[in-house]
Amino acid sequence: MILAVTMNPSVDISYPVERFKIDVVNRVETVRKTAGGKGLNVARVIAQMEEEVLSTGVLGGTIGDYIVQELNESNIPNDFLRIKKESRNCIAILHEGMQTEILESGPTLSKEEGVAFLEKFECLLTTASLVTISGSLPKGLPTHFYRNMVEICSHKGKPVVVDTSGETLKQVLKHEKKPFAIKPNTAELSQLLGLDAEAGIIDLKQRLNHEIFKGIEWIVVSMGDKGAFVRHGHDYYQVTIPRIDVVNPVGSGDATVAGLAVALNRNKTVESVLKTAMTTGMLNTMEAITGFININKFKQYFDLVKVEKID
Ligand code: ADP
Repeated sequence: MILAVTMNPSVDISYPVERFKIDVVNRVETVRKTAGGKGLNVARVIAQMEEEVLSTGVLGGTIGDYIVQELNESNIPNDFLRIKKESRNCIAILHEGMQTEILESGPTLSKEEGVAFLEKFECLLTTASLVTISGSLPKGLPTHFYRNMVEICSHKGKPVVVDTSGETLKQVLKHEKKPFAIKPNTAELSQLLGLDAEAGIIDLKQRLNHEIFKGIEWIVVSMGDKGAFVRHGHDYYQVTIPRIDVVNPVGSGDATVAGLAVALNRNKTVESVLKTAMTTGMLNTMEAITGFININKFKQYFDLVKVEKID
């Protein structure tokens, strides 16, 4: 079973309006509400790939109840730490071809709640074969919280895929116990290395040779329509993907993490792992719903991904 962690999930609300007007009433006819958060997208795509998954993290209040209801309706097993404070709503106003977002930061967790989650996490790990940790931390938890989770995984001998950014990612990488895989996009990689622009391919090989990545088995740098650049152990790969019709790219990084996790959990070859991760990312961009893939198209696109080893 893959344990997919989301520490700060949300109910994502989208309000489509023809014209968005400031300082007046905007009325909305069709409202869409979905359980959101990067780790929930990961869990959904893992389930769509027919791999056993358990979604966990922290949830609270009636918003938390709604998220559980949504997960149950989608047949996604879940076991969250429940807290009294409300989980968050994230609102996207879709207007005139643009998207204006209002994102709540979510509940502030107490130190005790953080400890309670780590205890729960350790328990759930017993039956897990692989772990994914995605997204940002809720307020109140220290930036080294994921580092603690990676350490627990390491003690239990469970590989962990981490997809986060900024200081939280830095803290994970600095620690002596390493995650099995990370999946930064180019912006996150630049931020991590303190670079301004996106690095080219020769640069990327050098960049991934940086001290900070030592001991991490898989570094998958996703590059949107350009596929990915990957370091696996001491080997480097350029992964290219076909040109496709993109409907909604939001959540494609999460779908990539899901594909990566499933293929690693199935002990696939390097080539197959990378082709799977790219295919799930692509399939997500071809759907309107975030964190959703049409598995029937998997084989067709998998065969179009090219993996080239770089000398
Ligand atoms: P993130 O969502 O984390 O920023 P990326 O944008 O790099 O991640 O996308 C992850 C993967 O999803 C890519 O490596 C690719 O496989 C697929 N993907 C994303 N955007 C596109 C696109 N415009 N065309 C084709 N595939 C895409």
